[in-house]
Amino acid sequence: MSEDWKTATKLVHHGARRSQWGEVSEAMFLTQGFVYDSAEDAQARFIEAGPDEFIYARYGNPTVAMFEDRIAALEGAEAAFATASGMAAVSGALVSCLKAGDHVVAARALFGSCLYVLENLLTRYGVEVTFVDGTDLDQWRAALRPGTAAVFFETIANPTLEVIDLPAVAALAHEVGARVIVDNVFVTPVHSRAIEQGADVVVYSATKHIDGQGRALGGVILGSTEFIRETVEPYMKHTGGAMSPFTAWIMLKGLETIALRVRAQTASARAIIDAVQGHAKLARAIYPGHPDHPQHDIVMRDMGAGGTVLSLDLAGGQAAAFRFLNALGIVLISNNLGDAKSIATHPATTTHQRLPDDRKAALGITPGLVRLSVGIEDTDDLVADVMGALDAA
Ligand SMILES: *Cc1c(COP(=O)(O)O)cnc(C)c1O
Repeated sequence: MSEDWKTATKLVHHGARRSQWGEVSEAMFLTQGFVYDSAEDAQARFIEAGPDEFIYARYGNPTVAMFEDRIAALEGAEAAFATASGMAAVSGALVSCLKAGDHVVAARALFGSCLYVLENLLTRYGVEVTFVDGTDLDQWRAALRPGTAAVFFETIANPTLEVIDLPAVAALAHEVGARVIVDNVFVTPVHSRAIEQGADVVVYSATKHIDGQGRALGGVILGSTEFIRETVEPYMKHTGGAMSPFTAWIMLKGLETIALRVRAQTASARAIIDAVQGHAKLARAIYPGHPDHPQHDIVMRDMGAGGTVLSLDLAGGQAAAFRFLNALGIVLISNNLGDAKSIATHPATTTHQRLPDDRKAALGITPGLVRLSVGIEDTDDLVADVMGALDAA
């Protein structure tokens, strides 16, 4: 392995551990336990296991370790811990480092389950959480106070695609000593430079672009070796949110192609957003990579690309949004994102259904809003599908 390898090379080779058979494709070690050469060897490993010594799959496994090493190399993080789902990663990153009496500041526009963890769960254990409009630096400044333990936000928010100025929020947080934890799903690990821009901890739902083919749930927490080994690992080991070796194998193979997929998906997203500009059925077309987006400068500076997801706000409200969805021929109606298959979602009636109307409105989740996760199908076919469905809406 070479530290000098470029990303595309690391995605194919980094972290590989070969068995005595010399297999080309990484092996799936479907084992929960490991055999020791002697009683003394077992004792020694329980006292201190080396990086390539395993004890029990809840603690670690060779296939899981290969995935952790490869995603850490992609993200530019010192270490990673793989988890059973994206939410095991989000909750693990937060709960492992917080205690009663701590104060957290979080952006208001969050994935529903992240909102539950911050608003309903952490507060039950005596953590105080202040929510802010993540795009307004004055609100972050006002909410942060000496001793604030952590800030949490989605760098690009779902489904309205607002973008948070990560370097600016990280600088404010670090002034008061707060740990910066970001959920970077919409940025994707391919476009992320979160750690060099000030994030202390980066969390992904691997279910999205890392798998990229809609097969398995998974997640990962990335950060310093000290944070991962001393804070996250004991918590995850003992509470049971480990990634299965089967899932790790899927995610490892996903990483081999993630850069190719995300690049193709991003190019098609851009082609779709260009094609729909000014369409009579649209009230708004939202894409962080389009010059009209209010935080376009931040996106290009921090990520260099707009990502794989766009949102369309149909002027005719829910009825028009439903006509649009039902007229799609290639794009599927579902709720994953980052998948090889293009997927359209109506957040107001599905993923964000439970939010009261005033909170939906405050987050910009209008009745006409449709989120489109762009897949790897032919660009022209996708543009034609979306344009046809818009005409039918
Ligand atoms: C999907 C998602 C999660 C949760 O991931 P799971 O793998 O479904 O548990 C968390 N945050 C964001 C932004 C997501 O899109």
